[in-house]
Amino acid sequence: MKILEVMNLSKSFKDPNGNKLKVLKDISFKMNKGDVLGIVGESGSGKTTLGRAILRLIEIDSGSILYNNINITNFSKTKMKVLRKDIQVIFQDPFGSLNPRHSIKTILSEPLVVHKFGNAIKIQRRISELLDQVGLPKNSLELYPHEFSGGQRQRIAIARALSLKPKFIVADEAVSALDVSIQSQIINLISKILKDYGLSMIFISHDLSVIKHISNKIAVMKKGEIVEIGDTIKTLKNPKHNYTRMLISSVPGMK
Ligand code: ADP
Ligand code: MG
Repeated sequence: MKILEVMNLSKSFKDPNGNKLKVLKDISFKMNKGDVLGIVGESGSGKTTLGRAILRLIEIDSGSILYNNINITNFSKTKMKVLRKDIQVIFQDPFGSLNPRHSIKTILSEPLVVHKFGNAIKIQRRISELLDQVGLPKNSLELYPHEFSGGQRQRIAIARALSLKPKFIVADEAVSALDVSIQSQIINLISKILKDYGLSMIFISHDLSVIKHISNKIAVMKKGEIVEIGDTIKTLKNPKHNYTRMLISSVPGMK
């Protein structure tokens, strides 16, 4: 069953000289429910722009985005607010996305309060459940983001993304800022959560070895285009595009 379809999506920015910079060029792809689509490509290839366009955080020039067969391309702010329960995001830098002046309790309560999850007791219960699921100690609630390690902060960002029981998550370089040993802990956590919640996910990373671990499908981006898309294992075993081959050969132990 299809969950997302992107059709002929294009987006340009103006560079500092005022020239038009085509960042996404006629991008089309589909995802089924339960798919984890890894989007890989070098820095500047347009991965983040694609993720933000799907989340409707930036306006696109042309094309359409269908979520559960509903065209959300021109959804109003009000309609998007409802959809935010379903579609969540995890960014690379939890420091940038977690308010430093808010306790973890406030950070995790906020989406639940905004979306009227329930009364104080129900919210409290949900927060305890979330802490448990992401492997944070119970006494975390009164603490502030700076009192945690990078890996723990990413666990908080994951808990917040999960709070409203979403169906779809866009994770943009979610483990890229972490040490390798911590990276694998967070990848394992995300894999477990994908199963527990029956989630679909777009997992953006410049790091092919991370994509290989987490995704069942892979899209390779180069200069605003998807040059290759397919089953992760098959694609890595038998890449069709030269650029994919180059990416694979640049990662030690990949082939
Ligand atoms: P990636 O995530 O693959 O590194 P991005 O989507 O962040 O790539 O960026 C793709 C290109 O678009 C880059 O050349 C970047 O400089 C440019 N770009 C991204 N956002 C903006 C913006 N808001 N204004 C102008 N140029 C942008
Ligand atoms: Mg990026």
